[in-house]
Amino acid sequence: MSLQTAPMLFERRPLPLLTAQQVAVLKPKLADVIEYRKSGLSLNHVIGCPLECGYCIRHLYDNFDMKVPRALMTDEDAVAALVGHRYFRPHITPIQLFNKATDPMLPVVKPHTFNTLRLLDERGLTNHVLVITRWRVDPEDCQILNSLRNIKVTVLVTYSGITHPGIEPVDSNIAAISLKTLHANAESYRTILYWRPIVPGLNDSDEHLATAKRLSEHAHATVFTGLFFRDEIAAYYQENGLPEPYSDTARRKIMPERLEQRILDLFRRPVDSEEPWGPLFRKTSCAVAYAHGLADYNGHYGIRELCDICPKRQLGLCKTAWNAPAQPDANQLARELGAIGPVTITDRAIITDGLDEQPRYFMQHGYGFQVHDRAHPHRQRRHGRAEIGWREGKEGVPSP
Ligand code: SF4
Repeated sequence: MSLQTAPMLFERRPLPLLTAQQVAVLKPKLADVIEYRKSGLSLNHVIGCPLECGYCIRHLYDNFDMKVPRALMTDEDAVAALVGHRYFRPHITPIQLFNKATDPMLPVVKPHTFNTLRLLDERGLTNHVLVITRWRVDPEDCQILNSLRNIKVTVLVTYSGITHPGIEPVDSNIAAISLKTLHANAESYRTILYWRPIVPGLNDSDEHLATAKRLSEHAHATVFTGLFFRDEIAAYYQENGLPEPYSDTARRKIMPERLEQRILDLFRRPVDSEEPWGPLFRKTSCAVAYAHGLADYNGHYGIRELCDICPKRQLGLCKTAWNAPAQPDANQLARELGAIGPVTITDRAIITDGLDEQPRYFMQHGYGFQVHDRAHPHRQRRHGRAEIGWREGKEGVPSP
């Protein structure tokens, strides 16, 4: 199927645009359709979602009550804004589509998802593009994805196995079926089991873990990760009488140590295997990179303990690609982006002062080398996760 015929497979019914007054009351972070996040430059010109996951990040944007998706601009204008963005680099910058305030495979959003992918592809761009969904994906959708020739598409299917109706009203089987469909039909794109959030007492029984492992056989790679339990999400849990998994909130995702070890034990293969834990990853970009046969674009190789479960061939790829930038080069770029004070380059990361997340990710993806904020040091073996649930962690340790 050609790119010309692919759009015929779905009916284009553009969503109504939000009015200027409606945009004016949005939080600035939501009104701004482009935001640099760790997995890529994120384009979100459609917002609103009816799926009501209790832990949804939209709580942080005061947008959880917006159930009907609406567009902030046309796909054409959004793509023009993205490729013209000060942080966009053709063929380098990873892109994420509709990962903040809607689900890209909802029936009314899907035409925008495919049209935006097509517009990027027609520009001849070879950037990674990540699409994250928990909704239905049909074989016809896979055909459209297979028709894209240039961009490197990865569809990450969010699956948790949570059955608590207040926390996750959407049946996890929908995601499981979508993953199988995507995997069975994949030609030019890749698909990942995005196993999250894994929460003690909610979806971490032996049976839950075994089910997820079986599902991982229908994916090119699997990422496992915990819960973002921020103040706004904790408040929603309290208001709605939902069981709070942790006694405290945290800035980073929470993945208790014992729970991680149980997952690693379950996935363990013979020691001499080329893939001792199979294609299992702690970090999203590692799984995406592996699925496309490339080195990790976030430079996690510098955080060497992250790599202890990685397939051997992948270790070689990442090792070859991982090179610290020259100090003067890093100094200059950091200063241009607004850093203050000296830039330190260690054997793990570039450490900056006064640079917020977005310019740090711009540096990180450009160098393929981690860039950290001196004010938020990464702890050994925490893999950039919260302290909660780790032995030396001081905050409310759960008992997984
Ligand atoms: S070798 Fe390390 S950096 Fe590379 S994909 Fe594996 S875990 Fe990630």
